[in-house]
Formats: sequence, structure tokens, C-alpha cells
Amino acid sequence: MGVVAYSIEADCKEQFRYMIHDEVDKWVDQIIEQVFQDDRQSTVMELSKLFAKTKQKFFGACFQALIEQKYADLLEQKYAACPRRGKRCKKRRDNLKEMVTMQGPSVLKRPWFNCVDCTYGFSPLDKVLEISGKKHQFDVQKKATRTGVEVPFSGGSELFAELTNQAVSDHFMYDTFEEVGAYGCLADVVPSCQEIA
Ligand SMILES: [Zn+2]
Repeated sequence: MGVVAYSIEADCKEQFRYMIHDEVDKWVDQIIEQVFQDDRQSTVMELSKLFAKTKQKFFGACFQALIEQKYADLLEQKYAACPRRGKRCKKRRDNLKEMVTMQGPSVLKRPWFNCVDCTYGFSPLDKVLEISGKKHQFDVQKKATRTGVEVPFSGGSELFAELTNQAVSDHFMYDTFEEVGAYGCLADVVPSCQEIA
């Protein structure tokens, strides 16, 4: 059994390496196409912009590959216990979760379960990974809230996008800020009096 478990883990690691190499190749193709296509000599500013523009898609894909390999067992799960009363549930369907982290956009196709006893719908993977119900995940939400503390909401999203390469709306920033306030965890994102001093 131990040998089998080890071999699956080794497979996942190798598969992850293979997937990342594939993403690197895709990224390199974009760079080559943009930079070496003519005799134009790009500046640092232009090259940096090109990296900023292409790295989100690249890292988002790498991030997705990492989750797909690390949690391969949860993505293949056919049965799961209902979190409410433990009823054994059969997978209902695959469900796509589009998400955006600070690394970029990723899509997870994960199994979805519905409890026949209490009708509760759930995804065990979401619980393990602590995936937010929103598209923008908690790392982005945390930074957006932190920005919201300092900058007026109108125009805050514009500055946020400029500094982080994450396109969010003013509406998203306002909602996230309000929710964090409602859960009383502003202390996590707002600097303490000592820090401000
Ligand atoms: Zn249930």
C-alpha cells in the first residue's frame, strides 16, 4: 500500500513538472513573438510591461496545475460525507470554479455533491482549500480591503489595478470592505496604532 501511495505521489510531482514546463513554453512563445519579431529595441519599461501583461495568465495556469496535482484525489472523488449530518453522498456533477488570485486567473473543475437527506450542496475541495464563494479569492480581497482603508472607493479600484495588475470594480472593493467590517476582522488588514505611529 505504501509503495502504491508513494508511486501516485511521485506521478503527481512529475505530472506537475511536466505541466509547468508546458506553461513555460507557452509563455516563452509569447515573449519571443513580441520581442524578437523585428529589429525594434525595447526599453526596460516596455519589457517590464510585457512581463506584467503576460505573467498573470502564466502564473494562473501554473497555480491551477499545482492544485490539480496536489489535490488529484479530491478532484476524482466519487463519494463524500455531508458536512451537516455525515450522510454518504454520491457525486452529482463536475462544477467549474473560476477564480482569480494575486497570481492570476485559474479554473478548477471539481466534483459537486448534493445531500439527498438535507439537500445541502457542497464541494470538499473548496473546504480544504478555503476557496471563497467570490471569484476574487481571499488574498485579493485582503489587499482590496487594505487599499479601501487608505483610498476613497471611487477610483480605488483604478489604483488597485495599476499597482497589482488585478482588475476589480469599485463595487467589489466596497462590498469586500463592508463584509470584512461585518465579520469584525478589520484588525487583520488595518495597521495597529503602533504600526501607524
Ligand atoms: Zn446532509
